[in-house]
Amino acid sequence: RSNAEKFEFQAEVSRLLDIIINSLYSNKDIFLRELISNASDALDKIRFLSLTNKDILGEGDNTKLEILMKLDKEKKILSIRDRGIGMTKEDLIKNLGTIAKSGTSAFMEKMQTGGDLSLIGQFGVGFYSVYLVADYVEVISKHNDDKQYVWESKADGAFAISEDTWNEPLGRGTEIRLHLRDEAKEYLEEDKLKDLVKKYSEFINFPIYLWASKEVDVEVPSDEKESSDEETSETSSEDKETEEEETEEEDAEKKPKKKTVKETTYNWEVLNDMKAIWLRNPKEVTDQEYSKFYHSLVKDFSDENPFAWSHFTAEGDVEFKALLFVPPKAPHDLYESYYNTRKSNLKLYVRRVFISDEFDELLPKYLSFLRGLVDSDTLPLNVSREMLQQHNSLKTIKKKLIRKALDMIRRIADEDPDEFSNKDKTDTEKESENDEKKGQYAKFWNEFGKSIKLGIIEDAHNRNRLAKLLRFESTKSEGKLASLDQYISRMKPGQKDIFYITGTSKEQLEKSPFLERLTKKDYEVIFFTDPVDEYLMQYLMDYEDKKFQNVSKEGLKLGKDSKLKELKESFKELTDWWKNALSSENVDSVKISNRLDNTPCVVVTSKYGWSANMEKIMQSQTL
Ligand code: ADP
Ligand code: MG
Repeated sequence: RSNAEKFEFQAEVSRLLDIIINSLYSNKDIFLRELISNASDALDKIRFLSLTNKDILGEGDNTKLEILMKLDKEKKILSIRDRGIGMTKEDLIKNLGTIAKSGTSAFMEKMQTGGDLSLIGQFGVGFYSVYLVADYVEVISKHNDDKQYVWESKADGAFAISEDTWNEPLGRGTEIRLHLRDEAKEYLEEDKLKDLVKKYSEFINFPIYLWASKEVDVEVPSDEKESSDEETSETSSEDKETEEEETEEEDAEKKPKKKTVKETTYNWEVLNDMKAIWLRNPKEVTDQEYSKFYHSLVKDFSDENPFAWSHFTAEGDVEFKALLFVPPKAPHDLYESYYNTRKSNLKLYVRRVFISDEFDELLPKYLSFLRGLVDSDTLPLNVSREMLQQHNSLKTIKKKLIRKALDMIRRIADEDPDEFSNKDKTDTEKESENDEKKGQYAKFWNEFGKSIKLGIIEDAHNRNRLAKLLRFESTKSEGKLASLDQYISRMKPGQKDIFYITGTSKEQLEKSPFLERLTKKDYEVIFFTDPVDEYLMQYLMDYEDKKFQNVSKEGLKLGKDSKLKELKESFKELTDWWKNALSSENVDSVKISNRLDNTPCVVVTSKYGWSANMEKIMQSQTL
């Protein structure tokens, strides 16, 4: 084309395209949901803008927020069109090839270590999956602020952009034309597309139409020539309804002179039912539907189901519906970027209109691993995002979400037959429990335990609730995980404090002289071996009226020892001499104690000082 401008793909994008094109990956279906998801995003964007500026939608067909798919069997083209926000020329250049997203290399790395190509959407490069099925792709796009352009590429290192002077004007939005490879001919079958939409895109909030054929019986006068029977008629695309009506009376009248022939008609057939699952009554939604919704929400189509979900309606001053999920796995970068970039992963809707998925005000950082959505009736629709962020009711929403989230997590433990909290259940209760729930909490803890600990540090208000969710190993946990409630149930008569010790590994701690006496006297001691635990214990002072005592620190009391006072006096000369010899720069005091058994002496940290382990952590700056 004479007016085409050529661009080279950014190097990483080019590499990604090579991987996709040469991939032996068999599940090529995923390209369709990526395109539909992009179309849906583009529609969300224009709808959001239209909240504050009605004119932006334009008029006529432009106001219809829909997705349209068409097949051209002869030319082997599948096209997917939306009336979303569209892309300017600059958008096309930036979004489709010249700027690599942060997920590009992360995705390629994942693929090299056996990751699944179907995760492509999670890494923000889903568009390129079109090259799983097409060898040539055109993207025609019209944005309100620019003319209509065509982006095209054979994924051979370059793409071209031209002002569109030959296609039909789109009005607004984007049409993607896939010139399918021979091996991908199945995507020219209507049934295949219908199945795929059912499978992957049923929760899309905009109607998805297919220009679908239908065989209908048509009666024609019997004296008419055979040749015209084969003709295909296309009904109008305007009203998207099947036109089959023929009045009975007319039929009856003309019957003797007519005969029936098959005719193919085309109609816009809607493929999804756009049910918003969160608006339905939770009692009527099946587990399977929740899991399916979760997968489409997070663009993860593996068969791992979420640990738990919570679907509820909040009433009162602030009304909203919410659906929260605990994902089956922690995202790869959950803690890497914890202190700077982590955003809330909830989608915010206001009266079914998608507003944003970067609304940090909905959940505290430590719960950013949760997925799901909030649909509020109270928040105003026609204000800017900035104004929404300051809206009073957000605080109430956040508070309720946290409460529900913690309940949901606790339920994972409550339903897990392996958990201490279930020890009092009768056998029949246990039998009726699902085997699938067995060991679930330990798995959850493995993935997200650190988040719970960060919560204890950050959220003073919910500290006790979070402490209930805490799990650890101890001198009595026998390789399993124990909870604080379990610890308390095992406390010895007269024991006032909860004992713990910190270090780098359980194996190292088991040899610690600090444990000698405690173990001998049958006290349980918690092992804290995660660097974050040291910080945790600076915030977690007590639980159920029991204080925490680091057994390597001053202040350890093991019940009454009548001989101790006597011993202290008789060794006073020695301890005084020793204190002098070490000088006050090195030690605060030298004391006779009953904390040891075989080891003659030990260095103890003062109550408010850093433990030896903390000193080590500070030196290596690990967290
Ligand atoms: P993601 O959707 O995660 O951002 P994609 O690779 O699927 O990543 O799409 C890249 C970008 O291209 C999108 O962020 C969007 O800006 C743009 N884009 C893709 N498809 C469309 C579309 N149908 N309408 C408007 N913009 C689109
Ligand atoms: Mg996308």
